Amino acid sequence: MRILVSGGAGFVPSHLCDLLLARGHEVVALDNFVTGHRRNLATLEAHPGFSFVQADVSRELPVEGRFDRIYHMASPASPIDYVELPFETLYAGSDGTRLLLERARKDGARFLLASTSEVYGDPAIHPQVEDYWGNVNPIGVRSVYDEAKRYAEALSMAFARYHQVEVRIVRIFNTYGPRMRPNDGRVMPAFCSQALRGEPLTVFGDGLQTRSFCYVSDLVEGISRLMESDLGTPCNVGNPHEMTMLQLAEYINRFTGNTAGIVHRPLPKDDPTRRKPDITLARARLGWEPQVDFEEGVSRTVAYFRSL
Ligand code: UDP
Repeated sequence: MRILVSGGAGFVPSHLCDLLLARGHEVVALDNFVTGHRRNLATLEAHPGFSFVQADVSRELPVEGRFDRIYHMASPASPIDYVELPFETLYAGSDGTRLLLERARKDGARFLLASTSEVYGDPAIHPQVEDYWGNVNPIGVRSVYDEAKRYAEALSMAFARYHQVEVRIVRIFNTYGPRMRPNDGRVMPAFCSQALRGEPLTVFGDGLQTRSFCYVSDLVEGISRLMESDLGTPCNVGNPHEMTMLQLAEYINRFTGNTAGIVHRPLPKDDPTRRKPDITLARARLGWEPQVDFEEGVSRTVAYFRSL
């Protein structure tokens, strides 16, 4: 198949491109490098089936020919990005989704939206199931991401209902692995980089808030399975292995032999208290569940940060 991937120089999408190329597809990736990085394209650009176009997907799609599949993966994706790049975040989710859905309609391509567990906001039910409508602050600092993704889901469903575009929506939970930006502010790169520098890990708030971390190879396998499935409604893809940020900090310090301990920093506004995916739907409809355990994933991730 001929496949378009927006945000191809980003952390998750670059791994998705690797997987699609390994399966014999032709891949065209788009990125404007607002948060993506050229070094993430290094292995991809050596592949004959890969091509790259620098473009802002919320403004233009300067790519010729028909696509069979379109993955819309482009967006800033960390809480500090939302603060530094509020308009880029809003437009990637809104205008970017619109342009790519219009292209999917024209080409007769199947479209997959990278949505997020952030559509559940600070969730009032636990673990989060797909039919939970969420608890989102519509005007808070994270709203540029959360509401853009909620709009993108609504737009995708409208294109499915009214224009018969085949649409898939993946709700991605916290993901980690090689190619994360060391300074993107997310907890895993922050803790790994601090530990490798021998500094105390910055735990926000009391550290009792929870997240559930999925290794990136598991995530992109789930995403590609969803694309090729017949599931036309949103599907969680994530690892239900839940932990507090204090537990994570202790784990990373122990793993790296860092003796500098932790320091507490103020909790950012609207930081969700608990997050864990219910993956019953992904198990049943995609035959998918995570394969990489936490120790193995951390080991590969720390090795990557050490190599930078
Ligand atoms: N966090 C932390 N220290 C850091 C960065 C993040 O304790 O240096 C916490 C943050 O407050 C949140 C969790 O780790 O509760 C996950 O944050 P991240 O930015 O990775 O992603 P989120 O799940 O909030 O989008």
